[in-house]
Parts: sequence; structure tokens; C-alpha cells
Amino acid sequence: MKTVALGQSGLKVTELGFGGIPITRVTMDEAKAIIRHCLELGIRFFDTAHVYGDSEEKLGAALEPYRDQVVIATKVFAKDAQGAAKELAMSLDRLRTDRLDLIQCHNVSNQEDLERVLGPGGAYHVLTKAKGEGRARAVGFSSHNPGIAMKAMNLAKFDTLQFPFNFIENDPLDSVFPAARERGMGIIAMKPLGGGLLDRADLCFRFLQQYPEVVPIPGIQSIGEIEEIVGYYKDRKPLTREDRQEIQTIRNELGGRFCHRCEYCMPCEQGVQIPSVLLVKTQAKRFTPKQLLVTSKDAVATGEKCVECGECVEKCPYHLPVPEMLKESMEIFRNLQDEHGTG
Ligand code: SF4
Ligand code: SF4
Repeated sequence: MKTVALGQSGLKVTELGFGGIPITRVTMDEAKAIIRHCLELGIRFFDTAHVYGDSEEKLGAALEPYRDQVVIATKVFAKDAQGAAKELAMSLDRLRTDRLDLIQCHNVSNQEDLERVLGPGGAYHVLTKAKGEGRARAVGFSSHNPGIAMKAMNLAKFDTLQFPFNFIENDPLDSVFPAARERGMGIIAMKPLGGGLLDRADLCFRFLQQYPEVVPIPGIQSIGEIEEIVGYYKDRKPLTREDRQEIQTIRNELGGRFCHRCEYCMPCEQGVQIPSVLLVKTQAKRFTPKQLLVTSKDAVATGEKCVECGECVEKCPYHLPVPEMLKESMEIFRNLQDEHGTG
């Protein structure tokens, strides 16, 4: 597996990384086997987050003997300094290390979070201090909102950006990725498979291979999945004309009903947490029903308050039929509740 520089962060990572959400769905022994198999296949870059259930514990247990050979990235969810310091200490402990390679501010996607993270007493200052003290080698952030990501890059010095990128979410190519590149930042692509929505892994990774400076971190939950993906890196093939046609067909099918979590539709006057409710559809493929029932319960409850005023549809740059999609998400959630209890 090829190694690439993550911008000018000083970190060198494999061209394919490992996303740490789906290992929360398997046992510790299964997770260890999957992670070690990834090592055997040559993967040396592992991304997780404080809020991904027991993902950090599993990665910590599997990677401890190989710590010097791997690059470990995690994220703090807290936007304030005190919360970030607490999460950082816990992450170091769970990941069984005294130094993280990359620590990221998790999901800075709206103005309020941006101000809290970068303002006085914000999480950013804890992370840069950790870097200065040698507890982290680089500081980055993740976001789903192009406008907020641009502001964050203009207001503060970050080493890396993590942003959704796949063939149905390729808008960051217009301004967000060029801005990150200009600043010497490394670029990490979350959701290379559209957060579980895209089934054609071959098309997804061949599309991404056109952008070698962007490092994808697919969420991996089985040995079969990673074997398949690594296969597309061993046997590289450019996209054919038929592949491009197929991509366009999938874009046309999904593009009109795919929430990018950019939050341009927010806030909703009725208090509906629109992107969080819409996320249920993809999260249902990535988390266990139990996890989803617990983590999305409050957000889904806000969906009931929708009065179908249509304001969010006007604000959404993709003109998604939000009220209709809210209903679909709530139905998926209710079906899970019926099947697995109320959570
Ligand atoms: S349509 Fe529903 S979700 Fe959208 S702004 Fe109106 S009340 Fe909020
Ligand atoms: S509904 Fe539209 S504006 Fe709101 S988060 Fe999704 S894609 Fe963005």
C-alpha cells in the first residue's frame, strides 16, 4: 500500500485509511481480528472519535503492540476547553498511547459550534496546547458544511480537514479542497461509500483514486469488506465510460434524496433537528439498532414537530423534500423500536 503525506502536517499515512464507526457493531475479538487483518493488508492509518461507542477501546487493544507503525487519529466532540481536555485524556487512555498522531475537533458544521470551538475557552485551544506539549502531532477538524469549513480554515491554523467526499458528494472539489490544499492541509475523505448508501465500492474507490491527495477512511466491519476495497488498490483501473455513465445514473437516483448534513436548512423554527433526523436512514446501516435507538431518540422526537412550512426546502441548496424525508426517517425509527424495543 502506497504512503502519502497528509499535507504539510508532517504525518505520512497509507493512501487508504480505516474508519472506526462500524467496529462498534462487532465483539472485541472480532474487532481485533479485523484491525489486525487491515495491518496485514498494509493499512497504517486508523481514524476514530471519542463519541464512537467503544471504537477507541477496540482500536487501542488491537493496535497497542504496533503503536509505532501506525498513525492514529481521533476527535473530541466537546466544543469547550474543559470538555475537550476531559475527552482528550480519556481518548489517550482508551487508545493506550501517550501521544495521538492527529486530534480533530469533531463536526464543526454550524456557526455556533465554530464560535464555541475557536472562541475564548474553546476546544481548539486545548488541542493546540496538546500539540505543543507533544500529546498530539497534528490538529485538524471535521465538518459537513462547506461554508463553515471555509470560515474555520480562515480563522485558525489547522493541519488537516476531514470532509465527506464521494461521487454523490463531490462539491468540496469546488472550493473546500482547493482552500485546504492552499493552506498545506492534509485532506481526509469521510463517507467514501456515501455513509453506507452506495453499494458499488468499485466505482466509489476508482472515483476517489482520481484524487490521490485525498485519503479515504471507509468504515470497516468485516474482513471481507476490507479485502474487497484493498483489491481495488492492488488492481487499479481507471473509470471507464460505462462506469461514468453508471455513476451518473446513481447520482440521478440518489441526488434528489440525499442529505449532506450541511445544516444550511437550520435552524427550524419548530425545533426540528433536520439533519440528525434525516441521518437515521444511513445510520441504520452503520450502527446497531440498539445504538441507533439510544443515540437518535431525542433527535427523532423533534421530527414530530414539523408543521411542513417548507422553509427548510427553500434554504436547502439541494432542494430536498425535507418534510417527506423526515417522515421516512421517523418510520424507519419506529419500525426499529417495534422490532427491538423502545431503547
Ligand atoms: S418544513 Fe418542517 S422541518 Fe422544515 S422548517 Fe418547516 S417545520 Fe421545520
Ligand atoms: S436538508 Fe439540505 S440543507 Fe439541510 S442538512 Fe440536509 S442537505 Fe443540508
